[in-house]
Amino acid sequence: MAQRTYDYSRTHRALEIIAITALFSLVGAGMWRAWVHAGPGDGWWLAAAVFTGYLLADFSSGIVHWMGDRYGTESTPLVGQTFVKPFREHHTDPKGMTRHDFVETNGNNSIVTVPLMAAAWLIPATSTLGLFLFATVVSLAFWVFATNQFHKWSHETDVPAVVSFAQRTGLILGVHHHDVHHTPPYETYYCITSGWLNWPLHKIKFWSRAEAFVERVLGVPAWRDAVPAGPDPEELIQGESEPTKSPSLA
Ligand SMILES: [Zn+2]
Ligand SMILES: [Zn+2]
Repeated sequence: MAQRTYDYSRTHRALEIIAITALFSLVGAGMWRAWVHAGPGDGWWLAAAVFTGYLLADFSSGIVHWMGDRYGTESTPLVGQTFVKPFREHHTDPKGMTRHDFVETNGNNSIVTVPLMAAAWLIPATSTLGLFLFATVVSLAFWVFATNQFHKWSHETDVPAVVSFAQRTGLILGVHHHDVHHTPPYETYYCITSGWLNWPLHKIKFWSRAEAFVERVLGVPAWRDAVPAGPDPEELIQGESEPTKSPSLA
């Protein structure tokens, strides 16, 4: 029997493979549906939908990542082991995810995205607005699927040339850009699809304000990582263009 490359249940592995297959099928069918309904003047709307979906995926990745980093513990019912634990372990072992194969990397994101993609068919694509909304959801679903792959690539030392080009030009999550999040206290730059929203969200103090809001409304304080002495992430943000991976920029 072939050696297993994963250390979780076969049932979950099967679910991941089914979800990835279903998601690719639904995104493919969605692209076809958008194409069929698009009129001669709808090209720009479709392009805008792809862009909007990409931005929404980046924002969603930040929200989910922030929740995993800041709320709950590994023993929280339902989500502790499957959701909180991987995020917390990622701070102590950032390279751990690079040992995951394609299915393990992208399976969980596909599982949560398939219902969204299936629900998109409720949007009538017969009007320009409907077509734009439907195409935005298709784009969002695809980029959510791609998010963990982009995140994994940002931690790998050896990536294909085209991926390295996309990282260096900022089309997808950049290596040095993501270093900011991995600098203690790990409390900013949560977005991991393109990372385009990280700087504006950091500047408006979105995450600390969201934590203050949650604490005020729900009475739940944000969980904090143990913080070793190190450089201030603010210095990395300012020096983000400097091609160094060393955290000793201070
Ligand atoms: Zn994190
Ligand atoms: Zn990371």
